[in-house]
Amino acid sequence: MKNNIILAGGKIVDPVTGYFGPANVFISDGKIEKVEKRKKDKITGRNVIKLDGKIVCPGFIDMHVHLREPGDEDKETIISGSEAAAAGGFTSIACMPNTRPPLDNAGAIEYVNNRALMAPVKVYPVGALTVGQKGETLTEMMEMSACGAVAFSDDGSGVQNNDLMRRALEYSRTCGTPIISHCEYSDLAASGVMHEGFISSKLGMKGISAVAEELMVMREIMLASLTQARVHIAHVSTAGSVDLIRKAKRAKVPVTAEATPHHFTLTDDLIQSFDTNLKVNPPLRTKKDIDAVIKGLADGAIDCIASDHAPHSIEDKELEFDYAPFGLIGLETTLGMVITRLINKKIISWVEAVERMSTAPARILDIPGGTLNEGEPADITVIDPDLEWTVNPDNFKSLSRNTPFAGWKLKGKAVMTIVDANIVYSTI
Ligand SMILES: [Zn+2]
Repeated sequence: MKNNIILAGGKIVDPVTGYFGPANVFISDGKIEKVEKRKKDKITGRNVIKLDGKIVCPGFIDMHVHLREPGDEDKETIISGSEAAAAGGFTSIACMPNTRPPLDNAGAIEYVNNRALMAPVKVYPVGALTVGQKGETLTEMMEMSACGAVAFSDDGSGVQNNDLMRRALEYSRTCGTPIISHCEYSDLAASGVMHEGFISSKLGMKGISAVAEELMVMREIMLASLTQARVHIAHVSTAGSVDLIRKAKRAKVPVTAEATPHHFTLTDDLIQSFDTNLKVNPPLRTKKDIDAVIKGLADGAIDCIASDHAPHSIEDKELEFDYAPFGLIGLETTLGMVITRLINKKIISWVEAVERMSTAPARILDIPGGTLNEGEPADITVIDPDLEWTVNPDNFKSLSRNTPFAGWKLKGKAVMTIVDANIVYSTI
């Protein structure tokens, strides 16, 4: 179904104007034609979709997703990950370059772009910062940027060499793209498997200290200040990191940041269950850190919410905790977590939530979306805010099942996802 649609009777959320209230959205030729605050007379017609009781907002953008193609197509492909995204209410995703081989050259970026032509949502590749993500030689960032890389990152691990990061930032400023930093000094992380603290000592597991992250956050802030290049801190997990970023923003350093649902909901003490779906990098931290991340999301120190969707096979996650890979999947649970744990608990408003999940990532990556302004692409998410549902990984579109949220009762779910006026997902 394409072209002329009228989304009638819903409440729209538009972070750009701050409006949260009833409106009809007129879509034609793949674009938003106009948004009309609801009048008394009811609109009828064949192309009218009635959305009474639903919330209509600019399509969500997940700027931190791992698709496992090329290399591990049994865990996720560009298509399966995009289908999971559509089901989760995302109209655009940015995919990280740590595939096998990594997306470290223009040909690899073009490969993703070509595969993404068949995807239900928009897929924006993030290019590797260093060749083979080995942390040694910078990639041809200009060339990759010209092919459509929206950012650069060695996500999966931190860039250990300070001078290399400085030079990467200088190049990225020329490209006009941000660098996404997975902040972790590997010598300080010391092959840990969980947060270093009381629980890791109790369990006798190797810990990753908060400082392993915070020291690199501090470095990125100092280098961004020096180079005036944009740095984006991925998956902020500690109270100290949130503090550093908040202060840097006050000092007008060009730094932005994201947080994941698991880092604003789950604590390290849950690892006493030895559920390997709780093994993530950066690790689950303490209640104090969670509270700080939530505060950062509320006051804007943290710009956006990203899933860090990281698919792994059941066999891999069945290994012992020490040997299991890091990561959990989040595309199909992020929105429900945000509504249930942030909006419904009155930590952030609907307008702020849509800002963090749509407008901010569009601005950071400089991609279309994040607004319902006239003439913008009709990328729209429709939500049933009252729908109560239980997370059941068997129903996921993702090829993987590694979620610690199975069995969780959530409230609020995407019921329709529209990309360029095409309905790519609907349960209505
Ligand atoms: Zn990462």
